[in-house]
Amino acid sequence: MSRVYNFSAGPSMLPESVLRTAQAELLEYGTSGQSVMEMSHRSAVYDAIIKETEASLRRVLSIPDNYKVGFIQGGASTQFAMVPMNLMTTGEADYLVTGQFSGKAAQEAGKFGKVNIVASSKDKNFTYIPDVDAVEYSRNASYIHICENNTIYGTRYTKLPQVAGVPLVADMSSCILSRPTDVSKYGLVYFGVQKNVAPAGMAVAILREDLMENARTDIARPAMLDYKTLIDAESMYNTPPCYTIYMMGLVLKWIENEVGGLAAMEARNNAKAKLLYDFLDASEFFTNPVNPADRSIMNVTFTSPSPELDKKFCAAAAEAGFVNLKGHRSVGGMRASIYNAMPAEGVEQLVAFMKEFEKANG
Ligand SMILES: *Cc1c(COP(=O)(O)O)cnc(C)c1O
Repeated sequence: MSRVYNFSAGPSMLPESVLRTAQAELLEYGTSGQSVMEMSHRSAVYDAIIKETEASLRRVLSIPDNYKVGFIQGGASTQFAMVPMNLMTTGEADYLVTGQFSGKAAQEAGKFGKVNIVASSKDKNFTYIPDVDAVEYSRNASYIHICENNTIYGTRYTKLPQVAGVPLVADMSSCILSRPTDVSKYGLVYFGVQKNVAPAGMAVAILREDLMENARTDIARPAMLDYKTLIDAESMYNTPPCYTIYMMGLVLKWIENEVGGLAAMEARNNAKAKLLYDFLDASEFFTNPVNPADRSIMNVTFTSPSPELDKKFCAAAAEAGFVNLKGHRSVGGMRASIYNAMPAEGVEQLVAFMKEFEKANG
């Protein structure tokens, strides 16, 4: 067996030790006589799994007691609709558009009320994050929505919009658990799990309780799109994505017990990103287009001198065991997604490979 270094933006790498545990427990979980894939979600053994997954998430992220956690199907994209359907109590909300996903979130919200695009970085092809302190927020906004890490463009917020009385809602799909997060600064954090947390199949919502209790009342919501219905049922209103939740529990244990928590996780991630960015900054062949202060530590974009060389690079890299480096179809070039599970050696070896490629083609 030879495992590649997978730089996919998502679904993406999982820690090898997590996969090994899953493998060892595949046929029989504990002494249950069955696989987690087969067991009833109403069984005592599964109940312990889902409860422990939530408890681990609360420990790792230090989630305050006045926040609820929901495991919700439909990925982050369904959250784009659930957020306005539940939280747009005044009929309007502010959106900062810094890439494709925040654009989609704003578009979806427009179906349920008035969307104020209060800032956008489209003028420079989303290569920077607007100054959040210079934004004019709306007086009547129910919430302010951001996408904290822009998976496609390789940018991230280093400062958060904080307006008294207006909750911040953040799509953290591609940065959750990459560093410590002060949950109390947000009204709602949501993320699809397939980037940094688990195999695909669900999103997680971390929602301030008063926002859940005081959801908008002027529209009818399907039960499956109602935070309170799902969360009051402890994410078991219907059959949850049982195996994905189990895998998320294993990844959280890995962060807690093997990595040593989110501060250690961030140090690892910063070191990996620095290695790659330092190389890109020194290279006369590869370049990164992002404003240095706004660079993501999860998704690193870069180009070679021409689309032809980009293509040649991606093919040669894949041949050498570095896969999924092609940039998003809307941006071109390359993108290395270096999520939590990407080991430092993966980045070190990629940089060594890029150096050789530059020498041969520069
Ligand atoms: C991947 C991604 C999404 C889309 O997630 P789905 O679960 O596929 O709907 C949304 N936002 C961000 C920031 C992402 O990285």
